[in-house]
Amino acid sequence: MTTLLYCGHCGRDAADGSHSDCRRALAMEPPRYCAECRRRMIVQVHPMGWTAKCSVHGELAG
Ligand SMILES: [Zn+2]
Ligand SMILES: [Zn+2]
Repeated sequence: MTTLLYCGHCGRDAADGSHSDCRRALAMEPPRYCAECRRRMIVQVHPMGWTAKCSVHGELAG
């Protein structure tokens, strides 16, 4: 299990506000920030989806 500490879209504390707009955005586009450490993710968009990579926590794919 991973603990989501930060919002992947705006990078703020996940407990700070509802982030409902952020969650909507994240359904459409890759996260910009790692949810565990708030580092900027290295995002690559492919025709079939995307990958977002944190230098510490590895890669997410969507
Ligand atoms: Zn947010
Ligand atoms: Zn990370």
